[in-house]
Amino acid sequence: MKQIYLDYAATTPTDPEVFEKMKFFFENDSQDFGNPSSLHYFGQRAQGALDFSRQKIAQTIGANFREIIFTSSATEANNLIIRGVIDAVENNFKNSARNILPKIIVSSVEHPSVLETVKGLESRKMAEAAYLPVDKNGLVDLSVLEKELNENVVLVSVMAVNNEIGTVEPIEKIAKLIGDYRKSKQDNKEIKYPLFHCDATQAFNLFDLNVIKSGVDLMTFSSHKIYGPKGAAAAYIKGGADKAYFIKPITTGGGQEYGLRAGTENIPAIVGFAYAAEKSFMLFKKEKERLDKISKSFIEEVKKEFPEAEINGFSENKSPHIVNLYFPHNKNIGISLDLMGISASAGSACAQRIEKPSHVLKAMGFSDDRISQSIRFSFGRFFSQDDIRQSVEKISQALKNKKNN
Ligand code: PMP
Repeated sequence: MKQIYLDYAATTPTDPEVFEKMKFFFENDSQDFGNPSSLHYFGQRAQGALDFSRQKIAQTIGANFREIIFTSSATEANNLIIRGVIDAVENNFKNSARNILPKIIVSSVEHPSVLETVKGLESRKMAEAAYLPVDKNGLVDLSVLEKELNENVVLVSVMAVNNEIGTVEPIEKIAKLIGDYRKSKQDNKEIKYPLFHCDATQAFNLFDLNVIKSGVDLMTFSSHKIYGPKGAAAAYIKGGADKAYFIKPITTGGGQEYGLRAGTENIPAIVGFAYAAEKSFMLFKKEKERLDKISKSFIEEVKKEFPEAEINGFSENKSPHIVNLYFPHNKNIGISLDLMGISASAGSACAQRIEKPSHVLKAMGFSDDRISQSIRFSFGRFFSQDDIRQSVEKISQALKNKKNN
């Protein structure tokens, strides 16, 4: 049976060209397998590859070389940023006579790697948090953000593109709002709080993420969502390692990554990540247009078979690689789809094994009943217009099979 992959938001296959470039960094013959921290010939070759990759990635987002810190995953980058910022202010808050905690503001539809990290800090009384509500399309309520801002807020974290529904959050507007607030404080402190973090893991492949234009201070992105290998990701840290006294490492050791993330760098994966980023950046405008057509045709075809199906979230003005659909009277269809050769997910892959209704759809106001009848389809580079008809036929057959059982 032909298997159709409709879960590109969970992960992407590694681009064959990218894989080719990575191979040298495993092999004895190429002499490129060294540890970049070693001072000898092999180490220097590996260090060269690391520098080259850091430069390529920095270029794709308009950052400086030293502003890119490699990690193993976007989850780790989110942890580094959130925990690192709180660790860096801990003493200031402890030493103040006011007995208060640093405050983080996050959207209620963030990925679990952000939300669970913030909740963990809250439960250990290391920070307090405010969770921004969203409207029925998953858009963050900026008026609540404005109300929640005060002098204790050290970090605001809002994602660029939601991984379950594809909603594009108003990142530039949020950066401006925070920038205006920082100016209004008129203090002479070197670090202007709050810092603005954007988890751009789902946006990196299809949007221009120039950090100067968007005005973010901290950003996260991951290789395996952009046709690079798993095991590499990055945190963008404005001002770079030199100015990163507003962030403390959570992994300590040999001082790699400018002292912000100890541990030998995964050179083959980082090299793959860099080539994948460069290629995605070159292709993103065309690919976005192509995926826009694909998602529109997909919805049209689905609607022909299931006129009662509804889109969760926006139908336009969203990232075209994600379509989240509600199929009334069809609970938990993931397994039925899989049996017909369609791989799709109910939500974040990381949360699939925990049976909890999607926190994203819940925050949008949907009932548990509707959530259990919803599924996310996500498209990517190796899914073509020609695959749509067959996919919809398979979906239709899966739902019929489910009814007959
Ligand atoms: N943030 C978002 C928005 C994501 O979609 C994901 C992946 N599902 C992550 C973070 C975590 O990425 P990684 O798998 O690299 O840890």
